[in-house]
Amino acid sequence: MSLLDTDRTTVRIASREAETAIGDVLRDADSEVHAVGSTGVPAVEPLVLLTEDGRTAFFAACSVGRAEALLTGLEDGFDSVVDGADAVVEHDPNAARLPATDLPELSAGQRTVLGPCGWLRPTDPDDYEAAVGFGGSDPETIRELGAEILGRGWGDWCQDRTLADSWETAREADGDPTVVVNAHGTGADTLLSSSAPFAVLDGAAAVARATDAERIVVYISQDDDHAVDQVETAVWGYPDPPVSMSVVTGPAVYRAAEPTMAIEAIEGNHRLEARLRPPGPDETGIHDRPTVVHTARTVAHLAAALDTGSPADSRLVTVTGDVAAPATVELPERARLAAALDAVDGAEEYKAACVGGRFGGLTDSLDVRAGPESLLDAGLGTEGVVELLGEDRCVVKFVGERAQFAADTNCGRCVPCREGTTQLAELLRDLYDGRYRRDGIEELIGVMERSSICTFGVDAGRPTRTAMTEFESEFHAHADGRCPAGSCPRKAEVSTT
Ligand code: SF4
Repeated sequence: MSLLDTDRTTVRIASREAETAIGDVLRDADSEVHAVGSTGVPAVEPLVLLTEDGRTAFFAACSVGRAEALLTGLEDGFDSVVDGADAVVEHDPNAARLPATDLPELSAGQRTVLGPCGWLRPTDPDDYEAAVGFGGSDPETIRELGAEILGRGWGDWCQDRTLADSWETAREADGDPTVVVNAHGTGADTLLSSSAPFAVLDGAAAVARATDAERIVVYISQDDDHAVDQVETAVWGYPDPPVSMSVVTGPAVYRAAEPTMAIEAIEGNHRLEARLRPPGPDETGIHDRPTVVHTARTVAHLAAALDTGSPADSRLVTVTGDVAAPATVELPERARLAAALDAVDGAEEYKAACVGGRFGGLTDSLDVRAGPESLLDAGLGTEGVVELLGEDRCVVKFVGERAQFAADTNCGRCVPCREGTTQLAELLRDLYDGRYRRDGIEELIGVMERSSICTFGVDAGRPTRTAMTEFESEFHAHADGRCPAGSCPRKAEVSTT
């Protein structure tokens, strides 16, 4: 039976873990008790949601003691416990999404693409069927939506471009296309794969219909056990799949999310190198067959658009870095990124933010809209990640470590990235010997941006370039032997290490 049509009190426990200590307690309640996956906001989890007759009571960060009190209170009925709730909201009795609440951590943005997360049982097809419905849209309708939706994230072959052109390329290429869902990505891809796997699969099935594909592969990092388990369970439970569906894991390294390296991993190649382009994977992908590569975010966005009839004007944003725990929220594209900070503890004071993932741009202000045009205009990245740096963090040290990470982990296929990242890390180390060569650094980053084969090398210099613009006094200070944050070693210590 679906969670949506029960006439008794329903107890939902929203948490990343399927098994929780409070679940053990509440299992004794005379109610339906279900684990519904994470909301994306760990600060409120485990979150207990009691629902009856179109009212839901929220009990945030519920302890075992509070769960025991709820269990006792529920013996006298739903009304006897709602006074102790952190929030109570009225809603459609058949609400398909976590109802909007004024709990600060859950009030940021909207929950359209994130709708199933923390509300539906992730791997129960009855819940998804009742709330959203497995898609049966015709290919033409799907293609029309694909002409309006942009790919999300650097793991998407269509990052910041509409999907439809890539689909058309795949349809016209030789061989039956494959659809790859690249969930080897940010916290948002992991959240959707774990808490809304049917939305991910349903969106992928729509892409398969639009491209006449014969196969769907969901690609996940091998260290992401929970997401792998959830998607595998959903694959088994997907009713009447239109094409074959499977899960393939890849190495737990950052570069493995690049679309063509994802294809290398899916083919089973141990040496992960990006492929030359053109042609792109939509023309020549897995075993030379056309392969459409989208992130979990992109296909979940498509599934939500098919459900509502139009694409949601929203972006998933994960706040991470110097916070108590990372959180993922869904912001309207017109909203300021700062709105996402309500979802995390510890974000009150920050010195800088790296916007756009591992190789995002540094800024001291999140007063920028969440849509891709605004982010790119501001020189920031569109990856959907805001990494906060606390007041005691050194920006020069941060970008130096990012440059060194790029030098250590690039695939080595092209000179601009392989040599460029190494030289960039050396130029940043030179600061500690009193040499700040801004022109040389900018010229090097320009070459990397223009000449690298894949997005890894194109973006690897962005943290440094933006930091030199926003925080240049810190670069001069380091060249003068001072670290304003007090976190860098002195010159003499650097030169002996
Ligand atoms: S840009 Fe870097 S990661 Fe990409 S192909 Fe070149 S060396 Fe490899």
